[in-house]
Amino acid sequence: MSSQPASEQFDVVVIGAGPAGYPAAIRAAQNKLKVACVDQWQNADGSYAFGGTCLNAGCIPSKALLESSELYLRAKQEFSAHGIRLSDVQLDLGIMQGRRAAIVKTMTGGINALFKANGVVGYQGHGQLRPGNIVVVTGADGAEKRVEAKHVVLAPGSVPVRLRSVPHDGKWIVDSWNALEFDAVPARLGVIGAGVIGLELGSVWRRLGSEVTVIEALDEFLPMADQAIAKEALRHFKKLGLDIKLGAKVSGAEVSGSTVKVKYVDAAGEHAFEVDKLVVAVGRKPFTEGLLADGTGVVVDGRGFIEVDEYCHTAVPNVWAVGDAVRGPMLAHKGKEEGVMVADRIAGRFAEVNYKVIPSVIYTAPEIAWVGQTEQQVKAGGRAYKVGTFPFSASGRARAMESTAGLVKIISARDDDEILGIHIIGPMAGELIGEAVLAMEYSASTEDIQRTIHAHPTLSEALHEAALAVDKMAIDSINR
Ligand SMILES: Cc1cc2nc3c(=O)[nH]c(=O)nc-3n(C[C@H](O)[C@H](O)[C@H](O)COP(=O)(O)OP(=O)(O)OC[C@H]3O[C@@H](n4cnc5c(N)ncnc54)[C@H](O)[C@@H]3O)c2cc1C
Repeated sequence: MSSQPASEQFDVVVIGAGPAGYPAAIRAAQNKLKVACVDQWQNADGSYAFGGTCLNAGCIPSKALLESSELYLRAKQEFSAHGIRLSDVQLDLGIMQGRRAAIVKTMTGGINALFKANGVVGYQGHGQLRPGNIVVVTGADGAEKRVEAKHVVLAPGSVPVRLRSVPHDGKWIVDSWNALEFDAVPARLGVIGAGVIGLELGSVWRRLGSEVTVIEALDEFLPMADQAIAKEALRHFKKLGLDIKLGAKVSGAEVSGSTVKVKYVDAAGEHAFEVDKLVVAVGRKPFTEGLLADGTGVVVDGRGFIEVDEYCHTAVPNVWAVGDAVRGPMLAHKGKEEGVMVADRIAGRFAEVNYKVIPSVIYTAPEIAWVGQTEQQVKAGGRAYKVGTFPFSASGRARAMESTAGLVKIISARDDDEILGIHIIGPMAGELIGEAVLAMEYSASTEDIQRTIHAHPTLSEALHEAALAVDKMAIDSINR
């Protein structure tokens, strides 16, 4: 292509086809706008794929492995309780990883199909915003294509944070993407960071047989979760065999042969241990490298986030930004809602995101999910509150499933019965939280849940009973 190629014109150009960008593109097309979406994601073999971190290296492959590894462990440890005798449960990691890769391929391929069906033009290559709402797309061969857009939506996502003292090499010292693609179970695995990603990856490899040590700098475990839930979670993770060291700061790591020596400091002094692989899972940072040419006027803050208002509009007219690259939790569903909101606002329709009601899920066993405020946040806010809990050990369905660990906890306002937060640790918590989100989105009171019929026997009855317990009216457990 020449250096001054002809411009193609669109109503909307989206840069990034992750869970924030591709829904923005699809909704904009549904709104009868002419749309293009540009994405630069390349797999190890050089192939391009839509879907961003979530589909290629995050939510979907991690859940595929969490499911497989959980089944493996249950077959080994739990099936006998059901009267199912297996003489020899064997792991075939090649097949497990093949299944993970096939799911990713199907899902990312699905976005191509959705783009086609909705009339979105997909470009594979690097997108750069230039002043005047021009986007330059550079393909793998270096050829440039210049497109003009009435509106540009920036959805470039995030990348893992790396530690200077722990030099990444992709083989021994790895990030979350590498850790999803191990071709052998490491005998000893170190994980730096006891956040959501660290705990999920640690669980996968522990279930498959690794000795797992998780190093966390903070003294508190899962500080973003309700502390009653976090305490229960820590107990179960220790039972699984995760060696979680809190208040431990990694000071360095060195590879020697096929061993990684990890050094850390805690209140008792300096320590060291050796592992076969070390995963750095200390968080993610917005990715805006090469995204903005000089003079666009888009503002990036000191931490690398693109500055936006509550409607994801940047400081520049008709330039929007959504997903992990803007403030708020780095979650796929938060990005998706932002993408859809922006596409609707561009089309002149009313749309907003209720940032107070964004669910969080940790796909460990037991699963953890919550929405709204934690008890510690409610307490700090000073509003009088009441709490109801219900243990899964009292749920008939949980007993039938042999999954009785955990509880549901509901926090409600004393004055008007408003639900302030719902916290679940237990089987299918990530599915159960849907009801809680809907209730809070519709400003339900605790009484509304109390008066809603829940099918029997289901796990959702635990939510019903926890709501009853808020007013000491639980039927299936003792009210305290
Ligand atoms: C291991 C792991 C597990 C996770 N599990 C969950 C989970 O269970 N649930 C959940 O909600 N979240 C989960 N997340 C987080 C989730 O993946 C992110 O919140 C989500 O992907 C963010 O979406 P996004 O569209 O903003 O960015 P991304 O998914 O990162 O997508 C951005 C896309 O834009 C492309 N891009 C960037 N810059 C340019 C450019 N200049 N030109 C062209 N293309 C560009 C990138 O290559 C990428 O394809 C997980 C993350 C990880 C790492």
